Amino acid sequence: MRQGILIALVAVAALTAPLGWYLAARSLRPAAPAEPPASAAELARLQAEVDSLAARVAGLEARLARDGPAPAMRQDQPDPPAATDSLADSFAKVVLIAGRRSVNAGLTHASAEFLEELLGLPREDLTDECQPMTNPKLLELLSLEDVGPIKVHMLRPAIASLRQVFRNVQVYEPALYARIQGSGSLCVRKVRGSHDSASAHAYGLAVDLNIDGVLDTLGDGKTQLGLTLLADFFQKEGWYWGAGFAREDSMHFEVSREKLEQWRRLGQI
Ligand SMILES: [Zn+2]
Repeated sequence: MRQGILIALVAVAALTAPLGWYLAARSLRPAAPAEPPASAAELARLQAEVDSLAARVAGLEARLARDGPAPAMRQDQPDPPAATDSLADSFAKVVLIAGRRSVNAGLTHASAEFLEELLGLPREDLTDECQPMTNPKLLELLSLEDVGPIKVHMLRPAIASLRQVFRNVQVYEPALYARIQGSGSLCVRKVRGSHDSASAHAYGLAVDLNIDGVLDTLGDGKTQLGLTLLADFFQKEGWYWGAGFAREDSMHFEVSREKLEQWRRLGQI
């Protein structure tokens, strides 16, 4: 901490140096008769400058207290002990989703019509209950596999992609990775309130996730902080986040239309 105070003092000296020169220069020639007295405007300007410097020093002190000296200033110091990760403490915390209608920029939601045209219905007689898949082509692609933090029942290309998402999370956010839980993947039924359209869950192209087992409230525009972090990893792999649905469903991640078209071009689906 002593080093921190020293750095703060050096910073104060550095930041106030121009002001010191200015005052010194003025005090060296106080007798000059041509020198007009400092005007009220000039004094106000100086006061504003002092206030701004004080604010910058306060900010610097706050940063030092929080982060310790900048890396360049502690090159000869041993590494400090790992601080408590306050972000990790907040992974399960429920927060407002910022700009939720633009979280899927660059990706398109694969509508029920698009999915049906691309893949055929997962079964003909859809009800409100989860039932077995009967579409033979889709059944060939269906698999129950471990993708890292959870097990999912999905189409193979989606499983491979999901595994990549979680591999990245494991590398860049290991503390978050350890707290991911699943809330379901395959469920062959019609979209609630619809006649016969099937959602991405019915095709094995969607997964619901949460942090620490805390279930999300549908449609409240809020989500767990950890899910907002996960959303970036999903977006990079071409997955569409349910936070952007008309009725917000932020635990839901599904394969985007672009990704499905890519798999079709590659002959994977
Ligand atoms: Zn879902």
